[in-house]
Amino acid sequence: MKEALCIIGGSGFYDFLPSPSEKLVETPFSSEPVGIYYSEVKNRDLYFLPRHGKGHSIPPHRINFRANIYALHHLSISRVLSTSAVGSAQTEIKPGTYVLLDQFIDFIRPITFFEDGFSIKFSDGHELSGVVHTDMTQPYCPDLRHHISEVLSQIPHSRLHGTYCCAAGPRFETPAEIKAFQSMGGDVVGMTNSSEAILCRELGICYSSIAVVTNFAAGLQQQVNHQEVIDLFNQRASELKNILNDVIELIPPNKTCSCRSHLSE
Ligand SMILES: [Zn+2]
Repeated sequence: MKEALCIIGGSGFYDFLPSPSEKLVETPFSSEPVGIYYSEVKNRDLYFLPRHGKGHSIPPHRINFRANIYALHHLSISRVLSTSAVGSAQTEIKPGTYVLLDQFIDFIRPITFFEDGFSIKFSDGHELSGVVHTDMTQPYCPDLRHHISEVLSQIPHSRLHGTYCCAAGPRFETPAEIKAFQSMGGDVVGMTNSSEAILCRELGICYSSIAVVTNFAAGLQQQVNHQEVIDLFNQRASELKNILNDVIELIPPNKTCSCRSHLSE
């Protein structure tokens, strides 16, 4: 069996897996279990995690990222392809563009598993606990990025690199905040992605992300409303599913990257 892979996305992706079964995973981080969908496709264990819960019921600042990502570890999921809607902070990155993220800026949400006595045992027997400082030189798995870029390079409205800026949400950003992100080198802005990337790296799970630009950020268009975000994401959803399926075909059974070795006590 190939290593298990999980898609993390919004509610438009519920039908990504054929005939999925739901698994409820208990974690130390929530009294509620995490609901994950599972299917076996072409001899591969595939999962889908709806980031915002069933029916998109959890706002970004209330997502229990630690419970979500711990649930992946519990299910021995080793790789994640995530998708998210983002606003563009650059006039040349137009709505409808797919951006393959390679860096992020996140000064707003401190997040880690390694506090309050948390310890974890990996499948090779190695245990990690105490204060852990994680290397984030390459915040997104280089191997998964490579496979995604093989597919996205065939899609005209795509960009093979981009810096994600994390905003707290659930409100949209101010034009002044977007100017600040621009001056820091940010390309797109969202509310969720970097927390997942950080926590996945802490558990040695490879993480990658295709951001879908749904709108220009504040100050680059008249105003931002949530409906246009939903509408454009839904327009792109079926193409994005095809892209992900093509990427999954390219991912080899076992990983060779070094995402696990960026952990040190
Ligand atoms: Zn990796």
